[in-house]
Amino acid sequence: MQTLEHQNWPTSDLEALATCEVCGGTDRPVWLQGLADRIFGVAPGLWQLRRCARCGVAALDPRPTEASIGRAYKRYYTHDEAPDRHFLVPGDRPDLPLKRALHADYLNHTYGHRLAPALPGGRWLLGASASRRARAGHTIRHLPAPTRPGARLLDLGCGNGSFLRVAHALGFQAEGLEIDEASGRLARQSGFAVFAGPLSAADYPPACFEHILLNHVIEHLHRPLQSLRLLRGWLRPGGRLWLQTPNLASRGAARYGVHWRGMEPPRHLTLFDGQSLCAALMAAGFERPAMLPPQRDAGFFIQQSEAIQAGADPYQAGRPSAAQRRLARQWNAGALADWGSAEAITVEAWRPA
Ligand SMILES: [Zn+2]
Repeated sequence: MQTLEHQNWPTSDLEALATCEVCGGTDRPVWLQGLADRIFGVAPGLWQLRRCARCGVAALDPRPTEASIGRAYKRYYTHDEAPDRHFLVPGDRPDLPLKRALHADYLNHTYGHRLAPALPGGRWLLGASASRRARAGHTIRHLPAPTRPGARLLDLGCGNGSFLRVAHALGFQAEGLEIDEASGRLARQSGFAVFAGPLSAADYPPACFEHILLNHVIEHLHRPLQSLRLLRGWLRPGGRLWLQTPNLASRGAARYGVHWRGMEPPRHLTLFDGQSLCAALMAAGFERPAMLPPQRDAGFFIQQSEAIQAGADPYQAGRPSAAQRRLARQWNAGALADWGSAEAITVEAWRPA
């Protein structure tokens, strides 16, 4: 991996940004230098982030062109991995009937679903702790019940369709968009409609979706603001967008800097904090952007960042150390008390009705 950093991404396949992609600002000093692909070790070159003085967004600049960036994803996809089995999908996890029934009661009560069977008491048991509430919310990406049977939902970057199966179990007509053909094929084999290709090539009719979800996707897009506007057009008036993305204002970003797992150069092109993401959503015509309680993901970010820092393959890091687990507990508790400091931020916003 060391040698990759001494090679270059071909100059002809690089582009520089004249202005901030999100707010148009031109005061964008270099913020971090010396970033390298130490995660998958496929993209040559050293990278830098510029941070917009006006909106706070950080952007990889210069960055690979859209035509060349595919080369940075060579080791990225797990093409042959079957979709995850999930306790909310009927028949998937017959070993977890109690967990399913308790969650059914909580999710029916909190999000208006009609999951059955539901075990009375789940709403109290899960609702009694902020940590359990946060975790339960993330299992369904905070989806309220469909307003009508067959309401359409789009999971952008659906991969092999793991979450489409959960959305389907909640009563949605779940569809995906996936740029990686092999992953998209797996989702299609599970019976879902999946558009294979980039966002810019999709031609969904206006106002057709009740929900659009982007789980760790926005940071990969070359034109984040333009993409958000496109998505707003595909949502029904009153429809909801849900996003999760690495958080520039996290403890991990401050502690690990260029080695923080969320940096992921050169695949992560644009990085936000809670404030700048909400501002971008407003600029794209969404209303009421609001942060949601974070996942307990500090353990993942800490272990991966420390492996990257040590020059090791983060996916071969084995079990987290006692010190890493202790730090993760502290950070997870801190993030629950201050959502804007979590390793990843989760936000929802609506297309005006
Ligand atoms: Zn800006």
